Amino acid sequence: MFSYWEQQSFSFYDHIVIGAGIVGLNAAIELKQLYPHARVLVLERGILPSGASTRNAGFACMGSASELLDDLSTTSAAEVVSLFAARKAGLLKLRERLGDNHIGYQCNGSHELISEAQLPVLEQIDMLNEMLLPITGIPAFRRADERIGQFGFAGIYSHALIENTCEGEIHTGMMMRALTDRAIAAGVEVKTGAEVVSFDEQAEGVTVFVADSIRAGNWQLRCNTLSVCTNAFSTSLLPHEDIKPGRGQILITEPIKGLRIKGIFHFDKGYYYFRVLDNRILFGGGRNLDFDGENTTDFNISDIIQQDLEHKLCHTILPGIEYKVAQRWSGIMGFGTTRHPIVKAISDRVFGAFRMGGMGVALGSNAAAHMVQLITERQ
Ligand SMILES: Cc1cc2nc3c(=O)[nH]c(=O)nc-3n(C[C@H](O)[C@H](O)[C@H](O)COP(=O)(O)OP(=O)(O)OC[C@H]3O[C@@H](n4cnc5c(N)ncnc54)[C@H](O)[C@@H]3O)c2cc1C
Repeated sequence: MFSYWEQQSFSFYDHIVIGAGIVGLNAAIELKQLYPHARVLVLERGILPSGASTRNAGFACMGSASELLDDLSTTSAAEVVSLFAARKAGLLKLRERLGDNHIGYQCNGSHELISEAQLPVLEQIDMLNEMLLPITGIPAFRRADERIGQFGFAGIYSHALIENTCEGEIHTGMMMRALTDRAIAAGVEVKTGAEVVSFDEQAEGVTVFVADSIRAGNWQLRCNTLSVCTNAFSTSLLPHEDIKPGRGQILITEPIKGLRIKGIFHFDKGYYYFRVLDNRILFGGGRNLDFDGENTTDFNISDIIQQDLEHKLCHTILPGIEYKVAQRWSGIMGFGTTRHPIVKAISDRVFGAFRMGGMGVALGSNAAAHMVQLITERQ
């Protein structure tokens, strides 16, 4: 049972956004900027955002050479370039919105470790550089084999090293704090612990049903437009969309004395990634080892992938160096049959921006802006 006051003052909004990840918060900020007098509400099911945005690796992710070549084997060059451009534009938007200091942004480039089987990638560097030059302005990739010894890498992934001059890194926690603070400062209402169980669209508005374990029945909210920014979890609200979950697992070590590695790294078509953070190694990936098992929204971690990460950490990244794993966690990404995010008007009043894959840090702000543009066109 809801009180009269609750119904009068907490039930009507101009715009409701579901999901307080990178996309949902950016969308809410964009809406508030465009419609300063509108009531904009973000509904988040978790106490914290509970998908990928607070649980990722923080690569300001432009893609490694082998990853882009892998994309080119299934997608046209024009699409690969447009996705690369969208990542660049999204990252710029995020940096301009929040400021580099507030997101811990650093642009020191990145490196990709190349295994023997992947040596043919080296022959494609010039082609990739030429393809991306209109966006990057400078050659994106160059060989940097001399640094393999400097960084101390060993094992099967250290036959060559490619530097990516365009990639940066952020501090994920700082970024999400800054984004949440910015949304609240802009006048956006954010309610956590608010799981949307369904919605119902009518000609004059949308009714949104939120689970309420204290009052009997669901909390019913009304709004003019509803934006679904629930990424991997979107099929519970939009069952016909082409999106499935993909779990990503990460570990982080205790601080390591005399660490020689600096910066951010990928290998194996972007399926593995590691970076130096607070003198620790943050290392994640391995989804390709068990695609079926990782096609899940379950946040538990699995032995098969954690053991693989530890093996690669010990033999490739930190050979001969003592370390201890301090923490492990997972997050859930959203994938589909193409790598492009879905940004669309689902109806006159319901919109969606989801399926950010492993690139949402870079893509998210742009996808949100694109969705809000669709909303304004229908208002
Ligand atoms: C381990 C890992 C490493 C990654 N590393 C990188 C990286 O280095 N660089 C990069 O660019 N990207 C990376 N990503 C991907 C990136 O984090 C995501 O693409 C991005 O966070 C997606 O943002 P989002 O807002 O679309 O989704 P999410 O962050 O998942 O947000 C969706 C939100 O919706 C909420 N929600 C879902 N259903 C409901 C409901 N019914 N009611 C209310 N709320 C709901 C969820 O709780 C969640 O908070 C990584 C992801 C993982 C998991």
